[in-house]
Amino acid sequence: MSGEMDKPLISRRLVDSDGSLAEVPKEAPKVGILGSGDFARSLATRLVGSGFSVVVGSRNPKRTAGLFPSLAQVTFQEEAVSSPEVIFVAVFREHYSSLCSLADQLAGKILVDVSNPTEKEHLQHRQSNAEYLASLFPACTVVKAFNVISAWALQAGPRDGNRQVLICSDQPEAKRTISEMARAMGFTPLDMGSLASAREVEAIPLRLLPSWKVPTLLALGLFVCFYTYNFIRDVLQPYIRKDENKFYKMPLSVVNTTLPCVAYVLLSLVYLPGMLAAALQLRRGTKYQRFPDWLDHWLQHRKQIGLLSFFFAMLHALYSFCLPLRRSHRYDLVNLAVKQVLANKSRLWVEEEVWRMEIYLSLGVLALGMLSLLAVTSLPSIANSLNWKEFSFVQSTLGFVALMLSTMHTLTYGWTRAFEENHYKFYLPPTFTLTLLLPCVIILAKGLFLLPCLSRRLTKIRRGWEKDGAVKFMLPGDHTQGEKTSHV
Ligand code: NAP
Repeated sequence: MSGEMDKPLISRRLVDSDGSLAEVPKEAPKVGILGSGDFARSLATRLVGSGFSVVVGSRNPKRTAGLFPSLAQVTFQEEAVSSPEVIFVAVFREHYSSLCSLADQLAGKILVDVSNPTEKEHLQHRQSNAEYLASLFPACTVVKAFNVISAWALQAGPRDGNRQVLICSDQPEAKRTISEMARAMGFTPLDMGSLASAREVEAIPLRLLPSWKVPTLLALGLFVCFYTYNFIRDVLQPYIRKDENKFYKMPLSVVNTTLPCVAYVLLSLVYLPGMLAAALQLRRGTKYQRFPDWLDHWLQHRKQIGLLSFFFAMLHALYSFCLPLRRSHRYDLVNLAVKQVLANKSRLWVEEEVWRMEIYLSLGVLALGMLSLLAVTSLPSIANSLNWKEFSFVQSTLGFVALMLSTMHTLTYGWTRAFEENHYKFYLPPTFTLTLLLPCVIILAKGLFLLPCLSRRLTKIRRGWEKDGAVKFMLPGDHTQGEKTSHV
């Protein structure tokens, strides 16, 4: 692949991780790569572009040479590993043993393991790929690195995607050498410790948004529950009781009734664990006791739950904009107009309804605006520019304002419907009454915690005060001494 790709991108002076210019070592070391696949090609391109001298070892150099930048030398494996001190092993684990014939030439050199196992392989092997490579080549120093960078990201360069290169090895000197190379290539090395961490490093690319799994399942579960409930009330009930076909409501209208329910309940679930934690601290009279695991996990997932709430609220706004575009809506309007004419009524204007709608929409827009602010400030780049007090003001105080606005939005939507019998379809209460339960409990609890007797005690606890003045714990098997006390 000759042309633009094989020219050094930043030949003599390199852009460092912090944007400043970093000097390339005057005599760029020769780097070897074993393997000629996708990763090897991208790595060679980046290394050449960063001013390194690259030699690629292939089982069939003639076939693969044309795929590499012309500045990279492509040769047989034996020849490729003879002179470089650093050799990247860009082959899959199952082929490591085929490299054993090179053991003598590789002795004393640094082998960089870039491999990623599949999920099955990761579960199957107790030993990481890097540790396995180290066991096959005991005379070499193995460094685990670059596995979290995709071939595409390597080729595109560190401008796009993740810049972090996680590095681990039992040899600090080898780790330093590879860290410097990573930095010279424009990446940010991150020391992950000894080679024993390789298993953890290899597991990283296998994860698919781990912190989003539970919140996403929760949101989907809520969506299914509310959708079913709304379907029974808005579609099934009229069909069974009045023989009215309202199945056309399923794709848009029922979805739009469901979305705000999910968004609203999720928003309350962001603030509920905080209330539970405060109640627990008040009851225990200390902050130095661990919360139960389920509460701890819940507290840690608040950001994701909040962002999902924003996502559902946004969808609700978009769906609401589409409501007047529906053909069914136009027919309803025309039918209403015809009814008006037949009844000889010239003007349809219900003052109460007009006011309710104006206030309801305005509160909805304000709540969505507030949620957008919360979502934007949870982005790391924005959050990093705020100090702790500013961040907590936005997420805690303004977040609670968003919950209050959403509650008022829901109340103005429901208006008097909760007290009208005809809105209890199949004896099921209107959906909005169900969604109000949790937020009302939270608002009530918040009000309680603001009472001076509770808020003063909570503030004291959060500043380290304890009910008994000390944490008591028992030493295992220490029955004679009984309880020891300690200020944690
Ligand atoms: P690939 O395209 O299949 O290349 C693998 C290379 O291994 C082959 O081209 C082959 O080169 C070489 N090889 C050496 N001995 C072999 C043998 N006995 N049998 C078969 N092939 C042998 O795979 P890849 O995508 O470049 O991945 C290579 C390594 O990088 C893997 O460990 C992978 O987990 C890791 N990695 C890849 C990416 C990515 O985005 N692709 C990202 C991170 C890590 P010769 O035929 O020239 O010898």
